[in-house]
Amino acid sequence: MSTIYMIDFILKELKAEASPVNKLRKLLRTTGIEDVIEKGDYVAVKMHLGSRGGFRIIRPPFVREVVEEVKSLGAYPFITDTCRPPSLEYLEIANIEGINPLSVGAPVIIADGLRGNDFRTVSVNGEVIKEIEVASAIAEADSMIVLTHVKGHRMTGFGGAIKNVGMGCVSKKGKRRVHEKLGGEPPMWIEEKCDKCKACVKTCDHGAISMIGGVIEIDTEKCVKCYRCVWICPNRALVWSPIGIDRFIKALIEATAAVLSTFERNKVMFLNFVCDVTFACDCPPWSTNPIIPDRGILASRDIVAIDKASLDLIDKCEGIPGQIGPGKIRSIPKGISKFLEIHGIDPYLQVKYAEDLGLGNSKYELYKL
Ligand code: SF4
Ligand code: SF4
Repeated sequence: MSTIYMIDFILKELKAEASPVNKLRKLLRTTGIEDVIEKGDYVAVKMHLGSRGGFRIIRPPFVREVVEEVKSLGAYPFITDTCRPPSLEYLEIANIEGINPLSVGAPVIIADGLRGNDFRTVSVNGEVIKEIEVASAIAEADSMIVLTHVKGHRMTGFGGAIKNVGMGCVSKKGKRRVHEKLGGEPPMWIEEKCDKCKACVKTCDHGAISMIGGVIEIDTEKCVKCYRCVWICPNRALVWSPIGIDRFIKALIEATAAVLSTFERNKVMFLNFVCDVTFACDCPPWSTNPIIPDRGILASRDIVAIDKASLDLIDKCEGIPGQIGPGKIRSIPKGISKFLEIHGIDPYLQVKYAEDLGLGNSKYELYKL
């Protein structure tokens, strides 16, 4: 059984000490930051730095509190992520999102170098991958605090701490290695979700998709598995094949194991921000309104338990009218797996595979501070 601590975003008293920002250092201490970080450590504070047009990443005041706490232990924090745009563009985006040395009090660096090619190849005895390219600054850090804005994700159902580590801590080549595992199978059509708009037919450059008598047909000989039709479909009526998704999620978990193996035992801590929970991730050049009310911040030393607890919180919560696709607003009632409903991909698969691989425990006890 693992332990999760939580700061609730519903304030019992309206005073400064009750603010989640002001309670964050207590959360870190209760979760045992003093056992994770030693004096002199170089501490990677891993977070998503956003995208131009997006606006829902973790807010600077929280990051600042983490930095101050790490510094108070005599360690050297740096805020980091890996290249999606090349590093100079990405640092400018971080600046626009409010994450820079002045605001958070620590250097902001891109962990896999100027153009995403700075990595250490790490072996992993996985079912799908045998090695992965971990960003150098992550591999060389002494300890890590993983700050995760939890949200939905088109290809994994859910983006939590596991995704932040397995995809967010590997270099460009590592990301490609994991994404490649999606391929090999043509997309699948879900008839009941299709409104026959034919956007997929128009977008396919290979003439591989057609609509005959209201039925989508994919010519498997012509299909090059580029998945443009999946991305373009406004109704999620075209999805990646379950075989590809399964392989992709397993590769993601194996990459997560490889990244964590670069740290000594108990040198990583996880904070999941269950607020601004949107249906999609922070990579697109837009953000949408959330699907549940803001719940709070969870902290744990167990990556599996914290993602499971975050998903449970989201699913037990009554949904609010939130955006779930282009022009689509819906409230998803409590008790329904919200990301399975939206993306058609079981978000708990990540938790299951990570637990199977020994990365943590899905059973947890949650204590509110
Ligand atoms: S884009 Fe989606 S909804 Fe439109 S026809 Fe194709 S499968 Fe159906
Ligand atoms: S995956 Fe690419 S090639 Fe295949 S049907 Fe869709 S758009 Fe066409």
